Parts: sequence; C-alpha cells; structure tokens
Amino acid sequence: TTIDANLAETIARFPDRDAVVDIAAGIRMTYAEFGAEVDRVARALRAAGYAVGERVGIWAPNSAEWVVVQYATARVGLILVNINPAYRTHELEYVLRQAGISLLVATPAFKTSDYQAMVEQVRGKCPDLRDVVFFGTESWDRLLSRADQVSTEEVQAISDSLTCDEPINIQYTSGTTGFPKGATLSHFNILNNGYFVGEICRYTEEDRICIPVPFYHCFGMVMGNLAATTHGAAMIIPAPAFDPAATLAAVQQEKCTSLYGVPTMFIAEWALPDFESYDVSSVRTGIMAGSPCPAEMMKKVIAAGIEEMTICYGMTETSPVSTQTRTDDSFDHKVGTVGRVGPHLEIRVADALTGETLPRGVTGEFCTKGYSVMLGYWQEEAKTAEAVVDGWMKTGDLAVMDEDGYVRITGRIKDMVIRGGENIYPREIEEFLYTHPDVVDAQVVGVPDAKYGEELCAWIQMRAGAEQLTAETVRAFCTGNLAHYKIPRYVMCVEEFPMTVTGKIRKVEMRARSTEELG
Ligand code: ATP
Ligand code: MG
Repeated sequence: TTIDANLAETIARFPDRDAVVDIAAGIRMTYAEFGAEVDRVARALRAAGYAVGERVGIWAPNSAEWVVVQYATARVGLILVNINPAYRTHELEYVLRQAGISLLVATPAFKTSDYQAMVEQVRGKCPDLRDVVFFGTESWDRLLSRADQVSTEEVQAISDSLTCDEPINIQYTSGTTGFPKGATLSHFNILNNGYFVGEICRYTEEDRICIPVPFYHCFGMVMGNLAATTHGAAMIIPAPAFDPAATLAAVQQEKCTSLYGVPTMFIAEWALPDFESYDVSSVRTGIMAGSPCPAEMMKKVIAAGIEEMTICYGMTETSPVSTQTRTDDSFDHKVGTVGRVGPHLEIRVADALTGETLPRGVTGEFCTKGYSVMLGYWQEEAKTAEAVVDGWMKTGDLAVMDEDGYVRITGRIKDMVIRGGENIYPREIEEFLYTHPDVVDAQVVGVPDAKYGEELCAWIQMRAGAEQLTAETVRAFCTGNLAHYKIPRYVMCVEEFPMTVTGKIRKVEMRARSTEELG
C-alpha cells in the first residue's frame, strides 16, 4: 500500500483524533482536518503543474505545514527532498541541483537567517527550479489558491495509480562523517519502517508522540510522523527547533505518552535546573536513537518512570530502523544494547574486509538486508554499489551480537582509534566517563601521535559549578577501571561539542580541532 492509501485508512478510522499539534504556531488538527489540508495542498500542487516523480524540496524547521507537505507530496507521487534548515547557500545550491528540484517550499526566515535572500542568491544557478514558495507568505497563499482548479477525484485517481515501490523521498544523511548523501526511499521502505517502529512502541490512537527531533531527518519524518499516522496517534511539535524546556512543557501540557530524542536532547532535558518541576508522568514509551545512547542516561529516563523507553539503531539508508529494544526487555538489554532485529529484516555482523559473517560475540561491521534497504543514493550508482552488496547494506558501524540476538554498537569504523597497535573503541571509554558524577557529556577522539600513532583525547562537558577535570584527575578516575592504553592522555573541558542539526556529534571536527590545539 502507499503512504496516501494508508493515511486514508487512518482518517476513516479515527477522524476526530488529534493528528498534529503545533504548539508554537497554535495549530491543532484532527485526522479529518489534517486529511482535508493534505488534499488541498495536493490539489494545489497538481494545479501548479507538478507531475508524478518530480522533486519538491522542503527547507524549513518543524511545523504543522511541514507534515502537511510531506503527505500532500506523497498523495500525488511527488518525491519530497528534505533539506537541512542549517544549510546555507553553497549546500542549498548543491541539493537543488543534485536532486533536480522543480519546486522549493521554504521558511521565509528562521532565527536570524533570511531564507528568501539565500534563495535569491542561488536561484539563477538551478535550471530545474521552476518555483519557490515561502510558508506564510503571499507565494504560499497563491499556490494554495489554485487548489480549486483540481478536484479531489482527480487527485485521488493519481494516488490510486501509484505503486508502493516508487521513490517518494530523497533523504539526505546527517553529514556526520562527510558530505550528506541522498538516500532514495520508496513508500514500501518507509511506510513499513514507520509502522513496525510504532508496533514495537505499542502505539494506538490513544498515543501522543512528542517530536522535538527535526522532520527533515528520518527520525522525525519516519519514526515520528509515519509511526503516528500508521496508528492514528498524534504528532506533537513542541517548537520549530529543539528547546529542552519547550519539549518538557509540551509533554506536560499535551499529556504526551511518548518522547523522542537523540541522546544529547535527553541529556539537556534532564540537566535542566528545574527538571523536577515538569510533570512527565504521562510518558509511557519513546525512542532514544541516532547516536550512541549512554547507559547512564537510559537509566535516568527509566528512573523517571518511562519504563517502556526504547532505543533504536538505524541509518537513513535503511529507512532508518534496523534494531530496536522491546518495551518488555530486561533492564540490562534496555540500557545496554540497541535491541534486536526489527520484524521482516535480517542482520549480521561481518568481517569488514572479507565480508564473511562472524560468530556471535565477535566485533565486526553491522550489515542489514530486507524491505528497509534504500533504492539507492540518488544518481550515485558507484556509491550505491559500494554501500549495498548483494542486498546487504554495509553500515560502516561496528557491532557485536550476543547469543540472544541483542546488538551492541561499539562505534563507527571511522571513529576507531588505533594506539600502539591496539584497537580502541571510544564508546567504551565514553560510557565509563559518564559514570563520573560531575560529567554531563563526554566524547573521546584519536589525535595523531609520533610514538603511538594515535593518542586519546577526551572532550568533557562538566555540570555547572563543578570543578573542571584535568588530564591528571581523569587519569586518577580511570586507573584501575580501564586498561592503561584506554586512559585518555589529553582532556579538554568545553561548553559544547560541534554538532550536526540532527544532534550528532561531529567527531571529524573534534579530531581536527584537538589535533590543532594539541599539535
Ligand atoms: P553521514 O552518513 O552523512 O556521515 P550519519 O551516518 O550520521 O551521517 P544518519 O543516517 O543520520 O547519518 O545516521 C546513521 C548513523 O547514526 C549510524 O550509521 C550510526 O553510526 C549512528 N546511530 C544511529 N543510531 C544509533 C544508536 N542507537 N547507537 C549508536 N549509533 C547510532
Ligand atoms: Mg551514515
């Protein structure tokens, strides 16, 4: 089935349930209202002449309109291309040209940035770009005013003609390790993934999901929006961009039953000085994902009463989720693993060089196969062939699977540090540093060293008011707990880490900065 056909079923079953609540904009739509709005925008897009398979870019922070555009494009077979709201002209031009975008839907301005001015700078250099509309402005109204020129029947006929294997999204990866890549995904890829993630969270029409993660990324648009619409649950948008206090306020006000976030979001929320004053007792489940989830943070979430919190592991190229913990998993599995394989998927841990499957308990490259694997990188056949071999997506992540099929991610192949011939997984050291009572967040990278090849450098964020750690105090803390070669030689206490908009820590940049400062 297609995304639009699935939405139609949900609307028919739960017309009066909340679909989208956009707190900052004061917008609230039931599924019936949401369906009508999706149909209106779909009709307008057809009236403006956009045909099945054309690319529509969306460059805006989270809002109710974002979700409407996501489903309206799917209804008329337009391929939605997510564009990171943090992009500036150089990156914007790259995506507009690379994906051959014919319509760009954008925010006119956000924070201190003038998106209209940035579009004007690149517009002339993008031959495929026929039109640009800005939310909430005259151009958006003009597009919508055309909706009456096309009937719902006409749009429905287009929706009925679509097949589930057609591409429906080009989602760019986070760009954690380099330039983002455009993963081309079908209805079948992402609708199934959203559905199964929602099944594992045990969603029903009673659920209200707080989504502070960006929609431009698969965490928001698939694990959030598609998990919600396949189950009749509500999508609660706390703010256009992540704000820890606004997120907790939304949870309390909207009685959310599920809370999402990358680990750094949970860390920021739980570190708020007035955290205790927010009522999060309505929250039953949720998802922490996107980067390594510290066991200490999961323990705090569970201690706050959110016992069914899950961890997902995945990547944009696989729709995204491959493994997830289950709501009834044991405490140890919940806090210490990324769960086990999702329904109808296959996973294996392979030797990164030979591709041979490794026995349980041995670390290797995580590979996954099944319905979730992308159609390919958009117009990048060589890169696709490198990443997907015999249907297996090579994730570039290191993992180890136990006898029961539970997976631990030990790091990215690219982040592994080799010191004096020893392979070191920074993850293990970070987990240990998290157990220090004054450490809010810790990241470990390798820096070049003449003697050992690489040495470890720990970046540490301390609790406000706590005494700064030094190389000596960290050494004292680690000695006896970690092997000598895993103890960081250098320590840098910082206020924040370099991050992607999806909330991932850019170790590439940290490595470069440490090397510069220590060199
Ligand atoms: P790019 O591919 O552009 O460098 P990226 O890999 O960060 O960026 P995404 O597709 O957004 O882009 O993220 C997928 C990656 O995130 C995975 O390959 C993995 O490294 C990491 N990841 C996701 N979930 C988890 C998790 N639960 N634990 C550890 N790592 C995770
Ligand atoms: Mg990646």
